[in-house]
Formats: sequence, C-alpha cells, structure tokens
Amino acid sequence: MSPRVLALCGGVGGAKLALGLARRLPPGALAVLVNTGDDFTHLGLHVSPDVDTVLYTLAGLANQTQGWGLEGESWAFMTALARLGGEDWFRLGDADLATHVERTRRLAAGETLTHITAAFAAALGVNQTILPMSDDPVRTMLETEMGTLAFQDYFVRHRAAPRVRAIRYDGAATARPSARALAALASPELELVVICPSNPWLSVAPLLSMPALRAALDATRAPVVAVSPLIAGQAVKGPTAKLMAELGLAVNAATVADYYGGLLDGYVLDEADAALAPTVARRGCAVELAATLMTDLPTREALAAHVLAFGARLASG
Ligand code: GDP
Repeated sequence: MSPRVLALCGGVGGAKLALGLARRLPPGALAVLVNTGDDFTHLGLHVSPDVDTVLYTLAGLANQTQGWGLEGESWAFMTALARLGGEDWFRLGDADLATHVERTRRLAAGETLTHITAAFAAALGVNQTILPMSDDPVRTMLETEMGTLAFQDYFVRHRAAPRVRAIRYDGAATARPSARALAALASPELELVVICPSNPWLSVAPLLSMPALRAALDATRAPVVAVSPLIAGQAVKGPTAKLMAELGLAVNAATVADYYGGLLDGYVLDEADAALAPTVARRGCAVELAATLMTDLPTREALAAHVLAFGARLASG
C-alpha cells in the first residue's frame, strides 16, 4: 500500500511528530523516512540510533524521560562491560542490546536494513511503515576544532561540545535512497510530505544530500511542509542552536526555512515566532502558526492534526 503521508525525520524531535502523525492517520497511511547518517558500528554491533528511536516511539516503548532507548530498561550489560574496562561511553541497555545483536546477525546473513526494520516494526506491533533512508552507508562527519569526528564521537562521546566548522555526509552522493520512499514520492496517492522538527543539519541534511531523493522531493506533486525545530530562537533539546551559531547562521526559525529553500511549499512556525512569518512568506512559502512544543501525547497529536490540515489546504489551493 502506498502511503498518503511521508514524514522525514531524525531521532527524538522528529519521532515525537511522527508518533502524532501515526496516531492521526489510518494504519498504513504513514511512512516515516529516517536518517541513517548517525549509524555506526559499536562493540561489533550495527547501531541505528534514529531508526531505533522512531521504532521504539511508534511501538510505545520509548523511554520518556531519557529521550532515547527503552522504557523500564536495565543496565546489567553496561555495568559488567565497564567492570571489564570496556567502552562504556555509548550506553546500550539490556533490552536495547537485543535490537542491535539481532540487527547485526540479520545484516551478516544478507538481509537489508530496510527489511530488518520492517520485520522489527511488525514484531513490535507498529502499524505504520518505518523506512531507513538508505541501505547503503551514509556517515555524518563533523569538522571540528578537535579535528574530524564521526557523528557519535561528536554527539555522545564529546557531548556536542567541540566547535563545528563544517559537516559532510560521506557516501551520500552515491547511496541509493529507499526505493519505497522514491516510489511514494512518485505516487499520485501521496498527499503530503512532512519534514519533522529534527536538526536540519544533523538529521535531515543526510537525507537531502542523496541526489536522487532530493530530486524526487523537488518533483513530487504532494506539498512539502516543514515544522520548525526552533522555538523563539532556541532548540527544545540538543545542539541545533549551538551548531547554527558555529556555522555563522542567524539562530532563528526563518534560517531553517531558508535552508530548506525551494523544497518547501509550507512552513510551520511556532506561535512564539509569529514575528518571523512575513520574512518566511516573502520567500514564497506559505506560513502557518501552531503550538509546536510537544510535551505529551495530546500535544503531539494536536500538532500532527494541524500539519495535516495545513497540508490539505496547500494541496487544494
Ligand atoms: P536527535 O536525532 O535526537 O538529535 O533528534 P532530532 O534531530 O530529531 O531533533 C532535534 C531537534 O528537535 C532540535 O532542534 C529540537 O529543538 C527539536 N525538537 C525537539 N522537541 C521538539 C518539540 O517538541 N517541538 C519542536 N518544534 N521541536 C522540537
């Protein structure tokens, strides 16, 4: 079944809206295309942090306070690993570990990340589609004051502290995007593309850096709408604002709209940023104001409903 809505997202911020959309749409009507630029091999295991965040969130298993991993997790493995002097800077809970072990086993047996993710989603009772952006490796690399760092070294090991000078997405030029995402973008059944409020440079850019996906997004007949990840010039969580300042960009929601540029038909600004609406609109993009802070399930669903209604208006108008 071809999805009616395709959502592009990274981890935590994006997954919140993805869950709202998943609950507002009938089963099978949503496909979530997820960043894999953060994927890495750790302790011999293939870890896909954003795919897992979306998987656990849509399955209702995500840890609410931590923002990553599983609810009710235990840490016997990490404790035992640390006791042996093993690498404990990247925390893997006991139940989470099963995901990485089983994914790694299946990859070694020749299954694709797309196939494995679909199997995990089905096993966990997710009734919407989760698509890794590619089965080919794309790796986000940051040029920092400490030299070039792989994404997880920057983000987790160094807690996003080093100043960033430039970001590149190794492998993106040749990686083949998800075939199902390309098919959805070409399908007359697609009604809306949503760029979730994820970090534009760390979570969405890896997707947009794949030329075939970018071209398909440019060509799709469905409206493309982004939700600002900044509220009143601040990130809700994570290094988006810090990174923008380091890259020499004005830290506000209009800069994010500029970054997506001609890709966008519509942009959802937080009500707190109403003053930026004329700036964004002047660039030819329809602007919608909404309460975009998602603190619980009702606020996620409310924002999802708002975005779907905005998209429907754009499609009909
Ligand atoms: P990561 O992969 O875990 O860093 O997560 P993402 O890239 O998906 O999301 C990080 C971005 O999400 C940050 O820019 C946050 O400001 C934004 N974000 C997180 N929660 C919310 C929210 O409730 N509303 C909005 N508008 N943005 C959010």
